[in-house]
Amino acid sequence: MSNGPYGQLACDCGAVTLLVCGSPLGHGRDAEGEPVSFWPQEAIQLGQGASELEVSTEGSDFDVWRCRHCGEHLLHADDEAGVAVLADSREEDDEAGLALTAAQQRRLAALGYQVDPEPSGGASRAKG
Ligand SMILES: [Zn+2]
Repeated sequence: MSNGPYGQLACDCGAVTLLVCGSPLGHGRDAEGEPVSFWPQEAIQLGQGASELEVSTEGSDFDVWRCRHCGEHLLHADDEAGVAVLADSREEDDEAGLALTAAQQRRLAALGYQVDPEPSGGASRAKG
């Protein structure tokens, strides 16, 4: 096995890029019904554009990383859950299970996210 997939995200204008490594903790939807994926915060690194990156809370409980130049939101990060939320890229066809803890799921739900349940019929069988 390799070190795992590395992805790169860029904002609309390309000034800010993020490097994403590993695999997501799970998938879900945000408050507007858009697909998102949940990542451990340590999986996300700033690629370039530190001077263009603006981190603010925008009156919310979580940090919003956005590009000053084009205004694109790159991710939402919640320190309490230790989870970063990215817009889901449908091109990546990963079959990640649900690795979020119950506490993380509760925290994300409180922030308005809907976490997809672990896919049934997968390779793993629930005990019991
Ligand atoms: Zn930009």
